[in-house]
Amino acid sequence: MDRTLAADLARLPELLDATRGAAADALASLDARPVVPAAGKPHDPEPLPEHATGTDTALAAFRDRWEPRLSASAGPRYLGFVTGGATPAALAGDWLTAVHDQNSNSALDGGGQDLERETVGWLRDLFGLTAAHSGTFVSGATMSNTTGLAIAREWLGERLGVSPAEDGAAALGPVRVLSGAPHSSIAKALSVLGLGRNSLVRVPTLPGREAVDPAALERALAGTPGPAVVVANAGTVNTVDFDDLRAIEALRERHDFWLHTDAAFGAFAALAPEHAHLVDGLDASDSVCVDLHKWLNVPYDSAVQFTRRRDLQARVFQNSAAYLGPLGAHPDLVHLTPENSHRLRALAAWFTLRAYGRQGHREIVERDITCARALGAALEADPAFTLLAPVRLNVVCFTLAEAPTPERLTALREAVAAEVFVTPTVYGGTAAVRAAFSNWRTTQADVRRAAEALGAAAREIA
Ligand SMILES: *Cc1c(COP(=O)(O)O)cnc(C)c1O
Repeated sequence: MDRTLAADLARLPELLDATRGAAADALASLDARPVVPAAGKPHDPEPLPEHATGTDTALAAFRDRWEPRLSASAGPRYLGFVTGGATPAALAGDWLTAVHDQNSNSALDGGGQDLERETVGWLRDLFGLTAAHSGTFVSGATMSNTTGLAIAREWLGERLGVSPAEDGAAALGPVRVLSGAPHSSIAKALSVLGLGRNSLVRVPTLPGREAVDPAALERALAGTPGPAVVVANAGTVNTVDFDDLRAIEALRERHDFWLHTDAAFGAFAALAPEHAHLVDGLDASDSVCVDLHKWLNVPYDSAVQFTRRRDLQARVFQNSAAYLGPLGAHPDLVHLTPENSHRLRALAAWFTLRAYGRQGHREIVERDITCARALGAALEADPAFTLLAPVRLNVVCFTLAEAPTPERLTALREAVAAEVFVTPTVYGGTAAVRAAFSNWRTTQADVRRAAEALGAAAREIA
């Protein structure tokens, strides 16, 4: 063994303590550090080190060169995209994921996949899904949507008497995927799956809304020859609008379609009794996407994919090899997702659910909603801003009252970036900004800081 590596092995507990110290420092400074550091000149890449210098020097080099460049996205005022942090228990679970370094995707070494199955059961309960849904962990909502739509593709084949998994997507002929306000990852998934971005048909939404118009959806279904795929949206990223899942499901009496619901963060409405009606009927979906690195507050990367047709899922993703054995009633994970090898991704989710339970996570969701409403109210009261949509759940979509040009909004975002991070969008043809609340640390004090920073910047920018 290399002498430096052997020395690291001998000092492992000490090195873990040093790493723990660095982690504690980073977390303790989350509130004081710039939320997003000003973009300086990028570092010139260093050459590959030739000789071992050990963990101490790697840790020092990371803290010196790279840590200052990283954002405080684990902290309470990183309101860009839809970004969660990591609860203490989730962080502990994530550390132990690396410690145990499992590649548990078959019954040949099945402890990890059994833990994943227990965790999926808890998540199903959390989101009000029945045992008709099985689930698997994937890396994010994009991969969850891709997996769900891959199962949908195989279902279309079943209806048409072909198997895209065996014969390719071309065996289906033209496919129509209908959706009101789909996330960008849906088009990406359709590209990956060989259905093509052009298979996505935008269905009109209700006036002034991002929720699909059920009557327009019915017309689109009536105009679709053969079976279709409908992507329902439960929580759009701009205005957190929800399709009426019950109304969509009712269309099944007259039309043949697979229903995939993208509930990446909207599924968490189920935790808050006041908002649970928004995802009423979620269980009837054939496949459901939920992100976990957003509102569950586990570290990247983690999401879950639920489906009622695990048989079709295994047909798509089966990875038969002699040593892996037959699929059986409970296929090994290796047969259920695009990945074969993968980390024990479920452990961080298991930890946070074990530690805080349904009520602990409900408190996070409800607090974030209250914070979003408070920021919405503060911006509405400030003549410098216009809200572009009511705060339905955890996102505030707003713009400048005067001359909301992309340039002025960029200046606004950059002026506040050390204090609060928000991301650009276009809503209803207007350049806008979104502030999304999904971090477990965020409080009303953060809302006040964000509102003050935004208000001051709005008065300063040209
Ligand atoms: C975030 C999000 C996605 C994509 O999620 P990733 O985790 O970035 O892959 C898809 N759909 C919706 C509605 C989202 O909010």
